[in-house]
Amino acid sequence: MNKVAVYPGSFDPITLGHVDIIQRLSLVFDKVIVLVAKSSTKPGLFDPQERKTLIQKTLKDFKNVEVDIFEGLTVNYLKQIKAQVIVRGLRAVVDFEYEMTMASMNKKLQPEIETMLMFAAPEYYYISSRGVKEVAENGGSLKGLVPELVIEPLVQKLKNLKGS
Ligand code: ADP
Repeated sequence: MNKVAVYPGSFDPITLGHVDIIQRLSLVFDKVIVLVAKSSTKPGLFDPQERKTLIQKTLKDFKNVEVDIFEGLTVNYLKQIKAQVIVRGLRAVVDFEYEMTMASMNKKLQPEIETMLMFAAPEYYYISSRGVKEVAENGGSLKGLVPELVIEPLVQKLKNLKGS
């Protein structure tokens, strides 16, 4: 059977914590779909297409990883493509309650879909997209936090925002 994992999130922008999870997933599943959530209420710093492009560039050497954009309930996306597994990453304990609530809601909506959690690697557990944006905004070094090719677009984006 072709086992597919859908890894949904904002990825605004992708960090090395996300990359680590995707890399490990790609070894366990036949196919990994990184699903960029599009939200009209949470526009984010990068628009979904920009986020998708940054993820694709970062993961270009991973043959079994795809990137998609979806607006709406993640379970509906899985139903559409007939996938069964949602994977989320778990960092500190603070992630737990949120992930458990969301997994329970998804179970209620679509009982045949399973949520699986993967622990963050110890060296990345403190990294979040929000934290990275804060560091960037204040001129800190982004090395070791996001993929190299994300640094320039992130710095540029924030510069443009400040200028506007
Ligand atoms: P969301 O806004 O939906 O929480 P994120 O883009 O912040 O999406 O994260 C997507 C998923 O990746 C979430 O399950 C989150 O817990 C997980 N994640 C985020 N940062 C890390 C990290 N440093 N290590 C492992 N998992 C992470």
